[in-house]
Amino acid sequence: MRRTSRAAAGIIAAIGVVSLVAACSDNGGGGSGNSGTASNYPNQNITFVVPFSAGGPTDTVTRMIAEPMGKKLSAQIVVQNVEGAGGTVGAGEVARADPDGYTVLMHHIGMSTAPALYANLDYKPLDDFEMVGLVTEVPMTIVARKDFPPATFQDLVTYVKANADKVTLANAGIGAASHLCGLLFQSAAGVKLQEVPYQGTGPALTDLVGGQVDFMCDQTTNTTGQITAGEVKAYAVTTPERVKSLPDVPTTTESGMADLKVAVWHGLYVPKGTPPEAVQKLSEALKVALADQAVIDQMAKLGTAPVPATDATPEAHRAKLDEQLKTWAKIIADAGVKAS
Ligand code: ASP
Repeated sequence: MRRTSRAAAGIIAAIGVVSLVAACSDNGGGGSGNSGTASNYPNQNITFVVPFSAGGPTDTVTRMIAEPMGKKLSAQIVVQNVEGAGGTVGAGEVARADPDGYTVLMHHIGMSTAPALYANLDYKPLDDFEMVGLVTEVPMTIVARKDFPPATFQDLVTYVKANADKVTLANAGIGAASHLCGLLFQSAAGVKLQEVPYQGTGPALTDLVGGQVDFMCDQTTNTTGQITAGEVKAYAVTTPERVKSLPDVPTTTESGMADLKVAVWHGLYVPKGTPPEAVQKLSEALKVALADQAVIDQMAKLGTAPVPATDATPEAHRAKLDEQLKTWAKIIADAGVKAS
């Protein structure tokens, strides 16, 4: 399947078969390397690479859409978690995969931040991928272990400034959404905290619930359940409007930190050179998945919604990525941050 393989087996943390539907009769459903022609695409399993841990928010959204997409494509979609370096390991794997439509990357806002953060990034977001379409934009929440002393967002700011030497801030690696949000928080609060990187915010949230780290930013698609269950304390959401599924959680804007606004957009990518027919079929299947009532309902429960059908297109996706690369290059340069 792959032109080169940099990710060792060890970083492929989880492999899940998401949908098992009738595979085309001419292949046996098998990932044999015989990918056929663009016109009979797909005729074998499709791998969706998630560049963060299983059980985290990017993984959750991927698994939500994989099943209806697989159904529409009459193909089996397998989700692989290829973790590391804020999502850049998985993205690099897909950039170098065979451009045959059988390796698809789900990535988020991190696709637009990595070039400004990593001096030796081994892929170029606009040049090394074909865009399939945007998927969703997810608000972030600022959450803490439930016994963390501050009661409100304003108290949080005061507390972390007074205790900067001991407060810990979790994230999913440099360039991850949690890292960016944490960066904006620290810059707005005028504080520098000790950051604890994980391979994804799935395991970070587990540690937050267990009290091993103090606080973090993360998508509502990961934190809603724990907030509602009282397993973590929620201080704010990072969108200008409150999130319907978390009506009691104030926005950062209401709480006096209007500069901290992030919505984590997600999109699907395939390697550059993938046949247009395959990209189009994936994009059509994405549209079908995003119109699926079960997907809409699941997303709503987790504080988000599918993008409009007009954004689930290669054109809208490319335009968004282009704009976001410029936006984040400036924010990151102003913040003076580098990964290496
Ligand atoms: N929420 C993570 C981030 O900070 C990614 C993940 O684990 O899905 O980007």
